[in-house]
Amino acid sequence: MSFSFKNVLVLAPHTDDAEFGCGGTIAKLLNQNADVHIATFSSCESSVPEGFPKDILHHESKAAALSLGVPVQNQYLFNYQVRIFNERRQDILQDIINLRKKINPDLVILPSLDDIHQDHLTIAQEGLRAFKLTTVLCYEMPWNNLRFESNCFVELNESNVQSKMEALKKYKSQAHRTYASEEFIRSLAITRGTQISTKFAEMFNVQRWIIK
Ligand SMILES: [Zn+2]
Repeated sequence: MSFSFKNVLVLAPHTDDAEFGCGGTIAKLLNQNADVHIATFSSCESSVPEGFPKDILHHESKAAALSLGVPVQNQYLFNYQVRIFNERRQDILQDIINLRKKINPDLVILPSLDDIHQDHLTIAQEGLRAFKLTTVLCYEMPWNNLRFESNCFVELNESNVQSKMEALKKYKSQAHRTYASEEFIRSLAITRGTQISTKFAEMFNVQRWIIK
């Protein structure tokens, strides 16, 4: 099935959240000629492992988005400090409103309002506040979601799942994380696909659905 969306904005609290949360859907949207923009609110300099340059995630996220097919001019990187986004809530809201004015998306994809990570929750809340008049889907991060209302699935094909895995491989500094394994990414896509009797899928929670 095809999307009707033409202009999509993905909000990622940190580098790699967009690719984990909805990399397959981004690949599918791009295949269907939608414009996709990714806004990332921190390059997580304080979370870079020993031995890597502090700005490594900035470069890795650019490479990951490019590998999915999101051009550099559609990538926005802000430099908020990790774990204290809630202290900068109003600045973050203003940045998101500026993005709304610039991009005017017809679909916004952001973290879940049930995400327990404080930065993810801040982006989910301020994103929904800024885009209450837009279709809004929330992506899952199973390790952060205490609950998740699974009321939307995007069917993916093998190529979409491959694109997601290729993009995530660009994050060499994060390869130690258990959720970075190809086995996990593929298994989750199969699990979500099984829930809708198809081979692969990504799962979302609908917050707003605007029909024009
Ligand atoms: Zn994150």
